[in-house]
Amino acid sequence: MMQIDILTLFPEMFSGVFGHSILQKAAEKSSVQYNVVNFRDFADNKHSTVDDYPYGGGAGMVLKPQPIFDAVASLREQAKSKNPRVILLCPQGERFEQRKAEELAKEEHLIFICGHYEGYDERIREHVVTDEISIGDYVLTGGELGAMVVVDSVVRLLPEVLGNEESHQKDSFSTGLLEHPHYTRPADFRGLKVPDVLLSGNHKLIEEWRNKEALRRTLLRRPDLLDKIELTKEQEKWLKEVKKDYE
Ligand code: SAM
Repeated sequence: MMQIDILTLFPEMFSGVFGHSILQKAAEKSSVQYNVVNFRDFADNKHSTVDDYPYGGGAGMVLKPQPIFDAVASLREQAKSKNPRVILLCPQGERFEQRKAEELAKEEHLIFICGHYEGYDERIREHVVTDEISIGDYVLTGGELGAMVVVDSVVRLLPEVLGNEESHQKDSFSTGLLEHPHYTRPADFRGLKVPDVLLSGNHKLIEEWRNKEALRRTLLRRPDLLDKIELTKEQEKWLKEVKKDYE
């Protein structure tokens, strides 16, 4: 079972996300255990202060090292885990991608630190954290939404969390490409028709159509992904055919 600890000043924000859908089911199936902790509880001063003014002056408040150092030490002790990944949510971190979700899904213990205010005391990054993750090139008010994004993408990859129908093997990015388009009933919706091949019952042709459409979608929307993967001979042939449609 994967242990996921979240250090935050706003624990209530997580109940909605962890208490619904696949993330809730994953906990019910004992694939994961969530533990959301307010790191203010670890502040060793009279007023439970977790932030202070920046040395050198300037705007905003900085998260103090002590509550976060002690909270992480306590979580490590509780879980008896030797090498948890301690993940700092931060716009300056490595940009989050599916391959990172796959890497984290192999771990037993993840600790997320959600920042707030202007930033963290640098000693937290230097001495407590193993990974710094950004969920994109924009600035949020806090790390909570980022932690939710990362946890969601990791937990759905854990064994037995998704059923067969929801399998992630062919998801966008898992294959290196964007996924092919989908259609469901009715076959004719107000004159808008489903491609004939999908109604043909010919599994080989359907598979080929899906492969080609995944290549087409990637070519049109994210051609950068095509530079990063090695295509099979067959995929190369299909890609050439797709490209002809745009010559
Ligand atoms: N002053 C910081 C900077 O310029 O890098 C931004 C601080 S931001 C207002 C407060 C917190 O929100 C950060 O400490 C981090 O935890 C979270 N955060 C903001 N943007 C994020 C992003 N793109 N990805 C992950 N976390 C983010």
